[in-house]
Amino acid sequence: MKALSALIGGRKIESNEDIFESLNPADLRDVVGRYASANKKSCREACETAREALAGWSATPAPVRASVLHNFAQLIEKNKVALAQLVTREMGKPIREALGDVQEAIDTCLFFVSEGRRLYGHTIPSEMPLKELFTYRRPVGVFACITAGNFPVAVPSWYFIPALLCGNTCVWKPSEDTPETSHAFFKLLTAAGVPRGVFNVVFGTGTVTGAALIDLVDEGLIDKVGFTGSTEVGRRIGEICGRNLQTPCLELGGKNPLVVAPDANIEAALHGTIWAAFGTAGQRCTSLGNLILHESIKKKFVEQLIEKVTSLKIGEPKSDDIFYGPMISEKFLKSHEANLAKLLEKHHNILTIQNGRITKSNGWREFSGDAEHGCYAFPTIIDNIQATDEIYRTETFGPLINVMTYETIDEAISLANGTGYGLSSAIYTQNIEFAYRFKTEIKAGMTSINNSTTGAEAHLPFGGNGKSGNGSRQSGIWVLDQFTRWQSVNWDVSGKLQLAQMDTGYISPSETILPYQF
Ligand code: NAD
Repeated sequence: MKALSALIGGRKIESNEDIFESLNPADLRDVVGRYASANKKSCREACETAREALAGWSATPAPVRASVLHNFAQLIEKNKVALAQLVTREMGKPIREALGDVQEAIDTCLFFVSEGRRLYGHTIPSEMPLKELFTYRRPVGVFACITAGNFPVAVPSWYFIPALLCGNTCVWKPSEDTPETSHAFFKLLTAAGVPRGVFNVVFGTGTVTGAALIDLVDEGLIDKVGFTGSTEVGRRIGEICGRNLQTPCLELGGKNPLVVAPDANIEAALHGTIWAAFGTAGQRCTSLGNLILHESIKKKFVEQLIEKVTSLKIGEPKSDDIFYGPMISEKFLKSHEANLAKLLEKHHNILTIQNGRITKSNGWREFSGDAEHGCYAFPTIIDNIQATDEIYRTETFGPLINVMTYETIDEAISLANGTGYGLSSAIYTQNIEFAYRFKTEIKAGMTSINNSTTGAEAHLPFGGNGKSGNGSRQSGIWVLDQFTRWQSVNWDVSGKLQLAQMDTGYISPSETILPYQF
């Protein structure tokens, strides 16, 4: 039986090739969506359709484009609960977090709606008389974007809201883990008034549709790529864009450190640690990877941490009081189990009692889900991690953290910076000098002082360095540089050729204004 594979120029494309299903990870018997992977022909058609729509959309005044995003915000607001429930059902984050995921899209719209009345250029004085200089933000063109499924509403909104505002047209390959949520996102955006062909979707897996879409960069059909996902895939996409002299927006993985100094507010640090480590079952790019404790507080901190973690409620994500639900899908749970099998070394000490998959026979005390049909994992804390261990520098993307110790602030900063990633980071301390040094010397794109590694706001730049990205930033005014190119205009009304530097009437200084002598 055929399934939907693409939404191009207002048309639904169906196919019976490469069918895939998204399943509710809290109950794998519940099929949330059934889709087909769009092939290269559909990807090409989507890019060509976006190209055709470009002239009209880019010529639409920015405040008018922004009015569509205002409608989008209102529509999301009206459908907020339904959309959040779909997110919970399709990818398993607790409903409270799903509502936050959706709220981020509303916040992003509201921020960029007013940017539509700014999108400022500059008026710049020229060296010449009767000549003026100007700058304008011009759209980049056709924007192709591939996203991960862990923030299925917030992450696409970070891309498409500013991209559309700036006059670009789009092709989106959403995660195969969340096609139904992505379809709902498309429906709301279309109902908001985005014209046909301006926003197109190709559903599918990474290896079929994602790879086919990215190949079109070489064919000159795409002007800008956005990618949120693993470092491995991001690197490959960066190479393809690089040989076409394009700068993609790459938002990749993390191995985020959280340092606790001896003078820290320990209760706050414990809460921040647990939220960063186990919220969304550890499946955020900003999740905590390495917990770096001062050796003087380590024993007590770890005891308190285990006590609190032991009472975490895991289970059915529809419930309001659940700390974390299932992993995004069976694939992510298997990868978590594989990490435990592959990355643990003899000197490691697992501090939590169980690890791996929660099953009916091997349960968790505070568990409310269906272990038989859901993809649940135990929280895992591993002690005795050394800077030479592979697990120290490998993103594990699951409910698993490493514990390390330090003696001096230099050592803490060096451990925080040593993984090759540079997305998020945090320090808990009351010592102003430590906080100052940490925020100055950390290589990560984002850092928190006395707050957890996770969390974003629609008007603050988001992004990483090193293996976490190529320095691109999302959110706030900074993302406008991803979706526009600066154009410089010089306008000469003198009626003659005036040459900069050569014809400029610079005024020479008087030779002797200080005629003092001994
Ligand atoms: P992934 O790289 O496997 O998949 C991400 C997207 O890329 C999916 O849509 C997938 O279909 C597609 N894809 C996979 N292989 C492809 C290929 N060869 N060519 C083109 N597209 C391909 O990542 P994942 O495991 O789904 O997601 C988790 C990763 O995403 C983690 O590393 C996480 O840290 C990262 N992430 C980063 C951010 C950020 O903002 N920095 C946000 C969310 C997730």
